[in-house]
Amino acid sequence: MKSLRFYLAMAAAKGALFGLRLLRRNGTSLPGDVAVKIDKNFLAELTPPETVIAVTGTNGKTTVSNLLTSILRGAGHSVTNNSLGTNIRAGVVTALLADSTFSGRPKKDIAVLEVDERSSLLIYPYLKPDYLICNNLMRDSIKRNAHTEFIRYIIDSALPESTKLILNADDLICALLAPKNESRTYFGITADIPTTFAQDNTVKDIVYCPNCGGKLVADYIRYNHIGRMHCEKCGMGNPEPDFVVTAIDSAGGVFTVSHGGEAREFRLISDNIVNVYNSCGVIALLSTMGMSFEDIARGFSSAAIVKSRLGEVEVCGRKITVMMAKGQNPIACSRCVSYAASVPVRDKRVIIMEDDKHDNTNNVENTCWIYDCDYSPLKDDSITHVLFVGPRCLDQYLHALMDGVPEEKMSCTPDYHDIPEVLETRGCSNFYFLHDLYYERESEEVTRALTEKLREEGAV
Ligand SMILES: [Zn+2]
Repeated sequence: MKSLRFYLAMAAAKGALFGLRLLRRNGTSLPGDVAVKIDKNFLAELTPPETVIAVTGTNGKTTVSNLLTSILRGAGHSVTNNSLGTNIRAGVVTALLADSTFSGRPKKDIAVLEVDERSSLLIYPYLKPDYLICNNLMRDSIKRNAHTEFIRYIIDSALPESTKLILNADDLICALLAPKNESRTYFGITADIPTTFAQDNTVKDIVYCPNCGGKLVADYIRYNHIGRMHCEKCGMGNPEPDFVVTAIDSAGGVFTVSHGGEAREFRLISDNIVNVYNSCGVIALLSTMGMSFEDIARGFSSAAIVKSRLGEVEVCGRKITVMMAKGQNPIACSRCVSYAASVPVRDKRVIIMEDDKHDNTNNVENTCWIYDCDYSPLKDDSITHVLFVGPRCLDQYLHALMDGVPEEKMSCTPDYHDIPEVLETRGCSNFYFLHDLYYERESEEVTRALTEKLREEGAV
C-alpha cells in the first residue's frame, strides 16, 4: 500500500510533466524534483519495471545507454530511459514516473538508466538495479568527483549485493568494483595489442596495487590506465575477460567478439577504441540477460553510428577542426591534444580554450586539473603554434612549459574575442580548436570569425 504522500507527489509531478510537454520542454528533470521534494521515499514506493539496468562509469554512459535502448527496443521490448533528461536522481525519477501509471505501476518492461556515479547513494538503496554496467572509472572534475577511489567507494556503498555486474576487465579500477557482488561478467579487448608504450602517458589513476601496495607493472597500456597490468609483489592483475574483442576491422566496419567458444562479427558503430569497449560491454550485458549473439548482432546492424565530438570547417582549401572536450577533465583534454598531434599533416596551429566557463562567474576552482593534463604531445614538430585562451591561460602556458613545449611556439590571450587577431594564420592550412563543453556558443563565434579571416586571406 502506497502512502498518501506518494499519490500527492505523483499528482504534482504528472501535472508538471503535462505542463512541460505543453510548453514542449522535454529535457528537464523538474517533475522528478517535485516528486522527491513532496515524498522523500518516492523512488522506493514507485514500482520499477521488471528489469532495471543501471549504466555508470566516467566516459561513455550515454553511448552505452542509447545502444542498449536501441537494441532492446529493436528486439521488441518496451524500454524506459532517461536519455532526454539528466542522469542524477531527479532525471531518473522523471523518466520512471513518466512511464508509470498514476498508481505507480510501470508501463514498460525494462528501464535502461544512465546514472551519474555520485548519485549512486541517492538511487541504488531505493531502486535496486538487476544489472549494472560500468565501462570505466577515470579521473573527472576534481571539484565534482574528487578521486576515482572515492567514486568507487560511493558505488560500493550503495549498490545491492544482488546486482549482476558487467565490468571492463581492462580497467583495473572498474574491475574491482563492488567486491561482495558474486555475479561478475568481464569484457575486454585482446585485438591489436599495443606492442610498445607509445600510448603511455602521465595521466594514470592507478599506480600501486590495491591489494598489497606493491608497484603495478603495465603489460601494455591502450590509453591512461586502460590496458593490462600486474603487481610485482603479489601478482594481482586484471581479471580475464569473459567476452573478448578478438579482432577489429576498421576498413570492413566490423569487430569480432568471442564468448564461451562462440565468435561472431558485429557492426562497428565507431572505430574509436573507447566505443569498441562500450560496444563489447553492451554485448556482454545483453548476452548475460539471455539474448543470442544473432539477435544482438541484428540490433547492432540497425543502431545509430556514434558521432564524434569533432567538427570540420573548410575554407579556400584550409581546414579548422573543432573538438569538444569537458573542461575540468584532464583525460578528455589530453586525448584531444594527443589527437591533434597525431594527425599526419605539417604546420598545425592549435587553439586551446578549455577553462570552465562557469568558473569565471560562479565559483573559484583550483587549477590542479590543468596540471593533470598531458600537454607533451604539443611538443611534436608538426605543431608550429599553440594559443591558450581564457582566464587560466597563464596556468595552461606554465604547464605546457613544464611538459617541455618550447616557449617560442606558444602564446596566450585571456579573451576569446581576440583569437582571430592574435593568432598568426598566414601560410597555414590546418587549425585545431579545442573548446570546453559549455563554450558551444562562443566556439561557434570564434569559428565564424576565424573562417572569415581565412576567407579574406584566401588560399595558401
Ligand atoms: Zn600486490
